[in-house]
Amino acid sequence: MAHGQLKLPVLQNWSCHHCGGCCREHLIAVTPEEKRRIEGQKWSRSDGLCTEEPIVSGPGDGRYYLAHQDDGACVFLDEQGLCRIHARFGEAAKPLACRLYPWAFHPRGSRITASLRFSCPSVVRNLGPSAEQQRADLQKLCSEVIAGRNTDIAPPAVHGTETVDWPDFNRFVEALDRSLQDDSVCFTVRLLRTLEWLRVVEQSEFSSVRRDRLDEFLELMQELTRRAQPDNDLPVLRPSRLARILFRQLAGQLARHDTAVLVRAGWTARLQLLKTILRLSAGAGTVPRFPEPASVVAVYGRLPETTVTFRQLEAHAGGRCEQIDALFERYFRVKIQGLHFCGAACADLSLVDGFHTLALMYPVVLWLARWRAACSGRSKLEPEDVQAALATADHNFAYSPALATSGAKNRVRQLAKMGQISALCGWYSL
Ligand code: SF4
Repeated sequence: MAHGQLKLPVLQNWSCHHCGGCCREHLIAVTPEEKRRIEGQKWSRSDGLCTEEPIVSGPGDGRYYLAHQDDGACVFLDEQGLCRIHARFGEAAKPLACRLYPWAFHPRGSRITASLRFSCPSVVRNLGPSAEQQRADLQKLCSEVIAGRNTDIAPPAVHGTETVDWPDFNRFVEALDRSLQDDSVCFTVRLLRTLEWLRVVEQSEFSSVRRDRLDEFLELMQELTRRAQPDNDLPVLRPSRLARILFRQLAGQLARHDTAVLVRAGWTARLQLLKTILRLSAGAGTVPRFPEPASVVAVYGRLPETTVTFRQLEAHAGGRCEQIDALFERYFRVKIQGLHFCGAACADLSLVDGFHTLALMYPVVLWLARWRAACSGRSKLEPEDVQAALATADHNFAYSPALATSGAKNRVRQLAKMGQISALCGWYSL
C-alpha cells in the first residue's frame, strides 16, 4: 500500500544527547543481513571490545542479538559512551534497531504516524530540533522500517467488538487529542473530562453514526462532559483499597527494568521480583527500592539510599505546576497522535482500553515521582522528579510482555469498571 506524507507529532523535539542509556538497557535484535555486515567489519578484542562471547549470536531460530559487556552495556559501547560502529563506519552502518530508537512508526489508515519513546531522557526534556525539522530523515527511516511489512491493516476496535473504518477511527483519535489541549484548565481536569467522555463512547454503537454525524456526536459529548466537570475543581475521591492494590502492582510492573544483567541473573532476579510484587500488594511498611535506569542515572544522578514508607506516598505531595502539566500534555498527545496506545502498537487494545491504560500512566508516574522526591528528603514534587519517573515507566509502556497478558488487561478493565481510574488520577495528582 502506498502511503502519503508521514504524520509527525506536533509538539515534540528530539536529538540524541549521548547519555548512553539505551545502549545499556536494550537487547539489540539484528537481522541476518546486519549480522553479516557487522561480522564483515572485522572487530576484535584489540578494538577494545570487552566480551568473550561472539559479537552477534542467537538461540538458533534465525534471531540474532548483539553481545553485552559484563555490566550489561552493548558490546560496542566505548568508555566515552559512544558507539564504536558509528565512530568507525558512520551511522548508516549501525543496526536499524539502534538508528530507530526512540522513534516508533505505526500504520494509521492511508498514512504512517510517528511516535516517540519517553524512556529517552532527551525526549522527556524535549531537547533538539522539532520532529518537523527532521522530516526528510524520518521519512527515510520510516521507509526502511516498513519495507516488506504489511501496513494495510484494519483499525483497532473502538471498544469491545465495535469497529469503524479508518476515516472514522481517526475522528476518535483527533477528538481524544483535542480533549487534552484545553490549557484553561489543569491537566488533571482535562484527563478526567476525557475519561468521562470515553465512558459515554463505551456505551455507544456507531453503525449508523458516521462521518460528519460522528464529528457532531463527539463534539456534543465533549461539550457535555466539559460542563459536567467544573473548571479546576477536583473531586477528591480516595481510591478503594482494591484499586490501590491493583494500582501498586501496575506501578511495580511499569517501574521494573529487565536489562541483560538481570536476564543473566535467572532465578535470583525472579525471586527478588516476586518479593517486590508481594510487598507492593501489601502496601505497608517500607516501599521496595525501584531500579534506576542507566539513562535516568546519567541525567538526574543516583538517588540516595533512603527508606521511604507507603504512608509517605499516600500523603498529598503538592508541587504540580504548569511545567509538569505541559510535560503530561506533550506525552499524552505524542502517544495519541502516534497511535502508540492501542492496536498493533499496544497489545491489540481497543481505543477505549488503550486510553484507560495510558491514563493510568498519569497516577503511576506521579506516584513514582513522589517516591523519588521522598528519597531526596522532599515531600513536594520538582519537575525533574516527574521527568525521571516518566522516563522510567515509559520504558515498559506498550513494550513489556507482562503488561500485554490477559491478567494485566483485565486489571485495567476492572479498574475502569469500578470507576477507579478517575479516582486514581485525581487522588495522586494532589
Ligand atoms: S537514551 Fe536517548 S539521549 Fe541517551 S543515548 Fe539513547 S537516544 Fe541518546
